[in-house]
Amino acid sequence: MPVHHETPSYLTPTEIGPWGIYLEQIDRVAPHLGALSRWIETLKRPKRILIVDVPIERDDGTIVHYEGYRVQHNTSRGPGKGGVRFHQDVTLSEVMALSAWMTVKNAAINVPYGGAKGGIRVDPKTLSQGELQRMTRRYTSEINIIIGPTKDIPAPDVNTNEQIMAWMMDTYSMNQGSTSSGVVTGKPISLGGSLGRKEATGRGVFITGCEAATHMGMEIHGARVAVQGFGNVGAIAARLFAEAGARIVAVQDHQTTIVNSNGLDIPALQKHVAECGSVAGFKNADEITDRSAFWGVDCDILIPAALEKQICETNANRIKAKLILEGANGPTTPAADDILAERNILVVPDVLANAGGVTVSYFEWVQDFSSFFWTEEEINARLARIMREAFAAIWEVATEKRISLRTAAFVIACTRVLQAREMRGLYP
Ligand code: GLU
Repeated sequence: MPVHHETPSYLTPTEIGPWGIYLEQIDRVAPHLGALSRWIETLKRPKRILIVDVPIERDDGTIVHYEGYRVQHNTSRGPGKGGVRFHQDVTLSEVMALSAWMTVKNAAINVPYGGAKGGIRVDPKTLSQGELQRMTRRYTSEINIIIGPTKDIPAPDVNTNEQIMAWMMDTYSMNQGSTSSGVVTGKPISLGGSLGRKEATGRGVFITGCEAATHMGMEIHGARVAVQGFGNVGAIAARLFAEAGARIVAVQDHQTTIVNSNGLDIPALQKHVAECGSVAGFKNADEITDRSAFWGVDCDILIPAALEKQICETNANRIKAKLILEGANGPTTPAADDILAERNILVVPDVLANAGGVTVSYFEWVQDFSSFFWTEEEINARLARIMREAFAAIWEVATEKRISLRTAAFVIACTRVLQAREMRGLYP
């Protein structure tokens, strides 16, 4: 019998924004889901969307209002889980897509979570520390009704860090009347954070990169790597690749692009960025002013580790790398995916490549619940095992079905989510 689904207006993409990209990815996986595709609409609409007003008093006495969001895309396999982003371009559609990618990511690596994401439309660089704290606390208070250690667990994302997680944990705990460390992950170690969490996303990019390289017969030692974004993900991934003997030949950040065909000194670059806030002005590198030229840089591995929609129809043809590791969420449009596949460029998708962060978030949450903390070796070993196993499973499905690693990751993940959905059944 034909089923008529009313589509809420906010679900219809007017252009190919992040939510539109996600919907197209779901359309590509649907034919591989067999009888479970009956439940596919579950994935095409978030379970719960909360839009909150976040007013704060600025240091000069004026009152400003920011728009905040928390979207719980799916909770079939466990509580919502995903970061909080502070960025001037945050929109509801973006947070919806990011929450949906968390559902897929958590299922792809098989951690017992659904997917969620939050954000505030603000440029945090325009705020003082006091203003940032007031905004974070007010936002946490507003989303307090839907978060919690067994409901939805936020974490860091673009422009949020362990200090912001500490404020979120404190605000939630003050409202609760008891210290609740499991409400957020990515906390400082002294507040129940996990060893290895800060490096985990970059480390996961490196681990999956090594797996992919092995399958392709590519040597990491001597490989030329280009990285877009030099934040927590890009910088750590670059450092690990450099330590393994690769040459980081180009780095692009929000300000500029620097290149050095002999390889950039990554520890020195990290120090420079900590002091100056950008890779601009780094010695022993050339700056290139044409931002788009970054995509044409001669390299073997390309790591987009910034924001969505960076690799698109207009630059996918220029890419020289043979391997792309998606450190960012949603950096490649479906049209670009097709071009890359045609050109035989292997893409390790975001939902696998950057899943190291949420994997160690899961370890942090488990450690908080048991109040028993693991060593860094133990954490890194477990992280590597989970990522390698997920990579192998996804590679196998991709080979067997002759589909991309992205679609294969979606097949595995969506099957898990929809099986849970079906077994739980509809209520009432
Ligand atoms: N924001 C990270 C991501 O996009 C981590 C989320 C988490 O640890 O919950 O995967």
